[in-house]
Amino acid sequence: REREAHAQRFESALTRDGHRVEVAANLGNTAHAGDAVEHGAEGVGLLRTEFVFMAHAEAPDLETQIGEYRQAIEALDGRPLVARTLDVGGDKPLPYWPLPQEDNPFLGLRGIRLALTRPEILETQLRALLTAAGDRPLRIMFPMVKDIAEFRAARAIFERVQAEVGASDVQLGVMIEIPSCALLAPSLAEEVDFFSIGTNDLTQYTLAIDRGHAELSAQSDGLHPAVLRLIQMTVDAAHAKGKWVGVCGELGSDAQAIPVLLGLGVDELSVSIRQVPMVKARLRELSLDEARRHAEAALAQSTAEAVREALEAL
Ligand code: PEP
Ligand code: MG
Repeated sequence: REREAHAQRFESALTRDGHRVEVAANLGNTAHAGDAVEHGAEGVGLLRTEFVFMAHAEAPDLETQIGEYRQAIEALDGRPLVARTLDVGGDKPLPYWPLPQEDNPFLGLRGIRLALTRPEILETQLRALLTAAGDRPLRIMFPMVKDIAEFRAARAIFERVQAEVGASDVQLGVMIEIPSCALLAPSLAEEVDFFSIGTNDLTQYTLAIDRGHAELSAQSDGLHPAVLRLIQMTVDAAHAKGKWVGVCGELGSDAQAIPVLLGLGVDELSVSIRQVPMVKARLRELSLDEARRHAEAALAQSTAEAVREALEAL
């Protein structure tokens, strides 16, 4: 099976009944974009740009960032790059960006909240991304957004830069990682071009379990029906407005979750590079009807354990 998945890695992931799901790769290092393509990725679905920053001893300047992003975009050769703007704080410290001591850093100054306190850093990053892209496909998304006001504040900075740079193929989206955003997805969907669901953080904030907790991590399951309902709300809201939805958290490469996500209507899965051929192969085994049955069975449960058992029994 693995050999077959590898042999077919460059073919698109069509279900048995011809429904296409895009499969992209998650990246922390722009030098790995070529490797992603080599594994059959149809683009980069999540570039964690904080790793680009971490690879430098101090904040990379505009030219350095342009070089970094250009490296990924060129290797992608026309495939889209979804870049997440700097996501610092919580589990993602940046040595040269000291943060205030907080009792609950996961509930504190992090992600877009933090970025908006230093708009000049966000502005430089956006300028670098747009300049590097030129007329090639670039999708930019903001991390840890809690509502439309944060999105609008970030978008205002984007618009200022884009008015000067004028990249021609850009979409703007938000990550759905905080339950408030899933609950308010209908309002957000009016103004974004796409959503990308970060199931790692979405699960953490829905179940109130630290994603890195040694003893509790087994209970931190993205197939929890509460998380699945939030995913369902997000997809339904997006599709009602003609917007697309990706999943870029770990759940996207969970063998039991793939049919559920397909059944919920997710348009794109972004997974670690090495998982790309397997995820495509898994999608090809399914039909949309079958996947919808998986989604329905999962949504009817009331615990993550029950979801996994019900899926196993199908
Ligand atoms: C997520 O939260 O699911 C996600 C994709 O972002 P990260 O894992 O980098 O927080
Ligand atoms: Mg996250």
